[in-house]
Amino acid sequence: MKILALNCGSSSLKYQLFDWTNKEVIATGVVERIGIGDSFIEHKVPTKDYKKKIKYAIDNHETAIQWIINALTTGEGTVIESMEEISAVGHRVVHGGEQFNQSVLITDDVINHIGAVSHLAPLHNPANLVGIRAARTAMPKIPHVAIFDTAFHQSMPEHAYLYALPYEWYKDFSVRRYGFHGTSHLYVSKRAAALMGKNANECNIITLHIGNGVSCAAIKKGLSIDTTMGFTPLAGAIMGTRCGDIDPAIPMFMMQRLDVGPRYMDNLLNKKSGVLGITGKYTDRRDIEVAAEAGDSRCKLAIEMEAYKLRKSAGEYAFALGSVDAIVFTAGVGENSGLIRQKTLEGLEFFGIKIDKEKNMSTFSKHGETEISTPDSKVKVFMIPTNEELVFVEDVVAIIQDQYEDHTKYPYTFLK
Ligand code: ADP
Repeated sequence: MKILALNCGSSSLKYQLFDWTNKEVIATGVVERIGIGDSFIEHKVPTKDYKKKIKYAIDNHETAIQWIINALTTGEGTVIESMEEISAVGHRVVHGGEQFNQSVLITDDVINHIGAVSHLAPLHNPANLVGIRAARTAMPKIPHVAIFDTAFHQSMPEHAYLYALPYEWYKDFSVRRYGFHGTSHLYVSKRAAALMGKNANECNIITLHIGNGVSCAAIKKGLSIDTTMGFTPLAGAIMGTRCGDIDPAIPMFMMQRLDVGPRYMDNLLNKKSGVLGITGKYTDRRDIEVAAEAGDSRCKLAIEMEAYKLRKSAGEYAFALGSVDAIVFTAGVGENSGLIRQKTLEGLEFFGIKIDKEKNMSTFSKHGETEISTPDSKVKVFMIPTNEELVFVEDVVAIIQDQYEDHTKYPYTFLK
């Protein structure tokens, strides 16, 4: 069985074709600059070591999908003989609002609901919908499934997801914490439970997804009870270019001082802040670590700030959970930066957390799942490479086979 995964942005369309039987990616690629000139498609076939970039005028997402179909079925990068081989399409949808607490089969009703929460993710949901409509038109005979970034966190209790703002803002404008990176938190928390030989519903886990975007989650007996991203992905940890938590009075203060409007401020907090704001030049943590090593004081400061904020979030969630079985580091930085991991969790023996310093510093994504705590550490600490694609495809397959109730009951292949 082959499943096509689509991730549609306003001017780009990423795709991956999975072979479910062999659990492998058979083709991957992206169509860039749709409708804005100089568009191209980059198509890769990992098993053949094939990669090709073709420039082509691609005016809209319908044409982009036709080009993806061409790339998959014709020429040197062919991986399937016809589209008939594809059993279903999975669509990544950023925001499901309160409507969706799990992945769903796309119907006209589902499309209307995604549209109805588009104001919560104005840059993403409308683009996701364009992709869904174009793909349903191009492949009308097969099922289409939506996988939401927010769904996993819908188990948060009211006291965790509400903000201390006028209650009517929640009722009238849906202002609340939603959380993102759901498929990643789901995957690594279930893998951590499996590594401890337990079911996810038997343990409490703190997951730290540290990439360009960063979010932490408190997962109690398999359910997300809190997460650091909020109404938008701007909240919580310090990120590559996003500020994370700040005093909410600062944007108003600076808008007055700089005489700028909300659009300018939104762009500044999302794209010019985080470690980029502190270092003044880098978002890539590898660059920051190299420059810090060479003596750059602002890069040193960015590392201290990022790790200190993560440490505080982990501490906060330890208290929220009451007891902790494991802490998991994942995503680009979490999987590869021993320095950030060490600074986040060093000196916490009092709380039952003991890092194996040497093992931690020599653990990278390429080593696969690794326990980086000492054998006598009460709280296990793991580096677990995330695999959002696997959750994505398994949800699609479970739904089209009508076996999906929710993530606590579905027997994902990675539970063992
Ligand atoms: P996203 O998917 O959010 O774009 P990723 O999960 O791919 O992000 O993570 C990207 C980040 O991971 C970059 O800042 C990159 O520098 C960082 N990273 C990758 N390898 C290393 C490494 N060896 N040391 C430190 N940071 C790393």
